[in-house]
Amino acid sequence: MSHEGIRFLSKEDQERQEREERRARALTREALTPLKVRVLKTEGTGVEIDWTDGHKSHWSFAWLRDACPCATCVEERQLQKREPGQPKPKPAQLLPLYEPPARPASAHPVGRYALQFNWQDGHSSGIYSWDFLRRHCQCAECIASRD
Ligand SMILES: [Zn+2]
Ligand SMILES: [Zn+2]
Repeated sequence: MSHEGIRFLSKEDQERQEREERRARALTREALTPLKVRVLKTEGTGVEIDWTDGHKSHWSFAWLRDACPCATCVEERQLQKREPGQPKPKPAQLLPLYEPPARPASAHPVGRYALQFNWQDGHSSGIYSWDFLRRHCQCAECIASRD
């Protein structure tokens, strides 16, 4: 008998998986359908979505850039054990260079299910689905319910 494919999860992994499953079940269609989407490009503050179920979400551009859901960024985060939105560790520098906060040069909808950003650093391959955004809502209430 082969043991291939059997993975042993740590308690931590297991708990995270259970949390994710709970979250996956909890979302209704209304929770995944935006009523209003505001990309506050000029203000530089981020994206706001009012959902059909009455919930309001907000994400900063910095969070969104560090949560890019493209395959390359997902893989990089997995290697560095970073959660979506968690910034890259900065190397210790004697004279840290000023890095302007992430901002999109432009943003546009993808079909009826997602948003895409053309970041000022030239990256644009991430497709931010409503599902992804709602599951990573950064409002105080959602953050509290995840921990
Ligand atoms: Zn990416
Ligand atoms: Zn929320």
